[in-house]
Amino acid sequence: TRVIKPRIKEILSETLPSGLVDKLPKRWVQIGDVLILPLREELLPYKYEIAKVYAEVLEVKTVLRKGWILGEFREPHYEIIYGHDPITIHKENGILYKLDASRIMFSPANVKERVRMASIAKPNELVVDMFAGIGHLSLPIAKHCKAKVIAIEKSPYTFRFLVENIELNRVQDRMTAYNIDNREFKGENIADRILMGYVISTHEFIPKALEIAKDEAVIHYHNTVPERLMPKEPFATFQKTAREHGYEVELLEEHVIKRYAPGVWHVVLDLRVFKK
Ligand code: SAM
Repeated sequence: TRVIKPRIKEILSETLPSGLVDKLPKRWVQIGDVLILPLREELLPYKYEIAKVYAEVLEVKTVLRKGWILGEFREPHYEIIYGHDPITIHKENGILYKLDASRIMFSPANVKERVRMASIAKPNELVVDMFAGIGHLSLPIAKHCKAKVIAIEKSPYTFRFLVENIELNRVQDRMTAYNIDNREFKGENIADRILMGYVISTHEFIPKALEIAKDEAVIHYHNTVPERLMPKEPFATFQKTAREHGYEVELLEEHVIKRYAPGVWHVVLDLRVFKK
């Protein structure tokens, strides 16, 4: 178990009612110089005082109150409780990720997957990222694998950062971004590898992925799956849809990314698909 930083506790025990000091958050997420702090209901009347102390002790410029990530664009709406600038540059595995941490998700739990992508592709591959975000998974491929990447992102706000990140990481020569719904993407039979970094309804996009895939390709298929349906799912649904579209599927690897909700897991399957 973690303990609250002694310095934080020391300062706040002067302001907070005594019972509340032990309820201060023991864990948080830091993205660049922005802190995302989960605060319990009881602490909300003191949120500004608390945020100020965490900011000073942990030396960050902005503190956000953690909330829910919702909707088609998987966007958080985190309230700023200290400072005013939620835009930051996060450095990870040699990649610079610029983002607005109050509006765009960047999950520390996905770090293993981002790092795994950095050595997944060969330089001669064409990779299509159907849910690019700010380039979470495809910047590592362009930067470290030196493969060609097409990154598709629907949200105009997130897209701005994707474009900036391509320049920041100097991969303009091999990474191209499109601000469209991936279902509008025109490329057919072009991809050696496809990233489907989405949750909840990723299965709806399988036919589009197969259209983009070459006759043989690898698909990194993410989805959320209830524990009671594992390990059959999500492979069974993918296989069924693939067969309807004339493809056979081989399961190469399966990884759990994180717990998504009680009894629900976010998993990624590496699938080799090939025309029958
Ligand atoms: N793939 C990254 C990862 O796994 O860390 C980012 C995932 S983020 C949850 C999913 C992104 O897909 C969001 O930025 C969202 O706006 C985008 N998105 C959702 N539906 C889309 C669609 N139909 N076409 C293109 N992008 C879409």
